[in-house]
Amino acid sequence: MGGSCRRISQFVLKVHSRCDLSCDHCYIYQHADQTWRGRPARMPPATVRRAARRIAEHAREHGVPVVHVVLHGGEPLLLGAAGLREVLAELRTAITPWARLDLRLQTNGVLLDEELCRLFVEYDVRVGVSFDGDRAANDRHRVFAHGGSSHDQVRRALALLRRPEHRASYAGILCTVDVRNDPDRVYEALLAERPPRVDLLLPHATWDHPPLRPGPDPTPYARWLGRIHRRWVDDGRPVSIRMFEALRPGGGGTEAFGLAPADVLVIETDGAWEQVDSLKTAYHGAAGTGLDVFDHPVDEVVRHPGVAVRQDGVDGLCATCRACPVVDRCGGGLYAHRWRTGSGFDNPSVYCPDLLALIDAVDAYPPPTPPASGEWSATAPVDELLDDLATGHGSTSTLALLAATQLSITRALLAACRDRFGSTAAWDLLVHLDQAAPDAVQAVLAHPFVRPALVHRLDPAALPGLGAALDPLPALAVAAALRAGVPATVRVPLRAGAITVPTFGDLVLPGPGESAEVTVGPGELRARVGSVERTVSLDPLVPPTTGWQPTRDVPVPGGRLLLEDGDPYRDCYGQPVEPRLEAPAARALGRTLTDAWRVVQRDVPAHAAALDGGLRAVVPLAPDPARPLRSATARHAFGAVAVTPHPDPETMAVLLVHEWQHAKLGAVLDLYDLVEPGQGSRIRVPWRPDPRPPEGVLQGVYAHLAVTQVWRSRADTDDPDASAHAAHFRAWTRDGVEALLASRSLTAAGERFVGQLRHALEETRVGSG
Ligand code: SF4
Ligand code: SF4
Repeated sequence: MGGSCRRISQFVLKVHSRCDLSCDHCYIYQHADQTWRGRPARMPPATVRRAARRIAEHAREHGVPVVHVVLHGGEPLLLGAAGLREVLAELRTAITPWARLDLRLQTNGVLLDEELCRLFVEYDVRVGVSFDGDRAANDRHRVFAHGGSSHDQVRRALALLRRPEHRASYAGILCTVDVRNDPDRVYEALLAERPPRVDLLLPHATWDHPPLRPGPDPTPYARWLGRIHRRWVDDGRPVSIRMFEALRPGGGGTEAFGLAPADVLVIETDGAWEQVDSLKTAYHGAAGTGLDVFDHPVDEVVRHPGVAVRQDGVDGLCATCRACPVVDRCGGGLYAHRWRTGSGFDNPSVYCPDLLALIDAVDAYPPPTPPASGEWSATAPVDELLDDLATGHGSTSTLALLAATQLSITRALLAACRDRFGSTAAWDLLVHLDQAAPDAVQAVLAHPFVRPALVHRLDPAALPGLGAALDPLPALAVAAALRAGVPATVRVPLRAGAITVPTFGDLVLPGPGESAEVTVGPGELRARVGSVERTVSLDPLVPPTTGWQPTRDVPVPGGRLLLEDGDPYRDCYGQPVEPRLEAPAARALGRTLTDAWRVVQRDVPAHAAALDGGLRAVVPLAPDPARPLRSATARHAFGAVAVTPHPDPETMAVLLVHEWQHAKLGAVLDLYDLVEPGQGSRIRVPWRPDPRPPEGVLQGVYAHLAVTQVWRSRADTDDPDASAHAAHFRAWTRDGVEALLASRSLTAAGERFVGQLRHALEETRVGSG
């Protein structure tokens, strides 16, 4: 039943409905809904089992890849370590056969101790702690029933989570805003706890009970949050603050903002299905559905009108919001904040003026290097991106994000060249084309060897062996103009008597001179050096021009793959690259690559999708009889791998998957520190005789995990050696993972990533799955 029904991936499990704190802003005890009074304090084991099975059933029927379960309360730690262990074990047993399980827990921290931390690390539970900032801010609301402060207990809990052995379980801080607090002090107190992420929450309010607005300022929340946003930008965004990331253009939203359908259901201690907790602020019973885990599957809950309306995106909003210019970013705010007796939820948020002003404030103070339009914006929190890649492959959306971040880096390097060497005619042309034909510029800048060219121009020592550092901008401008069909004339420096037009080809121009005058016309370019002039037509029916060596590409399931054997900046692998291949050799390599890509699709479709998502070029390496099977990636050349032209597609498939892992991880390492900076340690690994630096081990582990996954898949066929290969690479990967985790050289994000790799590796055991 319900095959077309929307799938839900997040579930909040209320494992304990009472709390040891008595916060006066608590929506559970202090707001309109008082249903907690009639519910059992603890979720009974039979209810936990039933809830876990309902979630598993939904994951199985809908193919949900990752299920997120948040243990919540009241205060979930009141269940104690033994009670929580039972719940966690039940969830793992029921759900992991069908989906990857992402476990989280939200706590006030008061009861957190070492035993609980160990349990959370063991079960890979990520713990969020509610903490409102400095002592004055926190004590304003977060107090015990006798009025005493909880500040010291919560800070002690945060210190426990920060310890290296627990850090992988530290999810972040949830801070409720109070505009009477000093925003600077709150910001500093939050940062001092070094959380991986901060969630800032607006206090719950409705039109019936509007938020506190002390003083004449009509938008105090925008002012308060705007102040923190400014500090955060000035500090270089040292931590993920979800609210600010979500509110940026294309920010993707959260439950509190944006138009994404609500993807969360709550299970109360008595097994009742409910909608999000914040609705409890609206009216008694507002979150209820009348359904429970004993009699009703998830699909039935999703059809409940209160849940269904929240799947409707903009159509589920009131007329004011529908007409609002920032509706795609605000989404009408948190659903609960729209409540007004009489019109129900059919209103803008009670925070509407603040939300408008806050979006203005965010726009008015962008980070110093704003992404160009259509490119990356920091929407995916680090843990989600890493979790996705830690499956071994990563989804196409994650690959798109990585590719976009790489493009942003290339653009930043381009701007750095302009800053260093000044504006030139080529720069001006690129700027013009970026406005007039942005797709053409983007297609050229996404070429894997543009970044090495820019890096080499800025720092020739960074890529030794590439010869004189020539200005690459004129050739980029020519390529973009050619793509855009925009007439232009540019002087392009010659390298070894030739010019390279990235993504199009090389033109050899005999004769003296250091540069060529290149004129772009419709479907052609004309280059002149002294008295030598060549005209190159892009029309395949026009006979080829002497000296023109066009790029060649081959069809692969994901599109077309460039066989890059001409661009001089491909020589960035620290290994000799092959000069331009003769036509038969190029055709043979092309066939192998096409077939290899199909082999990847056959063996590990998820890795094939990851190749589709970003691999654009293959560089042939020069043959070396001593090492006939070689492959490489270069950190500056995302989108390309280099391989020796091995004729066997089965072998080539493994090389492609292996190297693409390095490319993906390289792109991640451009964004995040997974290894503690300044690590001089060396780690012994089974695949190399010499001890390796932590980053090298991380690269090895990530590549070997993928290779294990390939062989694990082949083990299900009649390949007699596949099981042994799978076991071999699995052992290497496992040893590398354990060595990395024991090395204490990883950051919190790195530990989490490697911990997830360990889970992915579990699933490759021969005989499993
Ligand atoms: S700690 Fe959380 S559940 Fe407990 S009273 Fe405070 S806000 Fe409510
Ligand atoms: S709540 Fe206000 S700012 Fe948000 S979408 Fe509605 S009208 Fe726009």
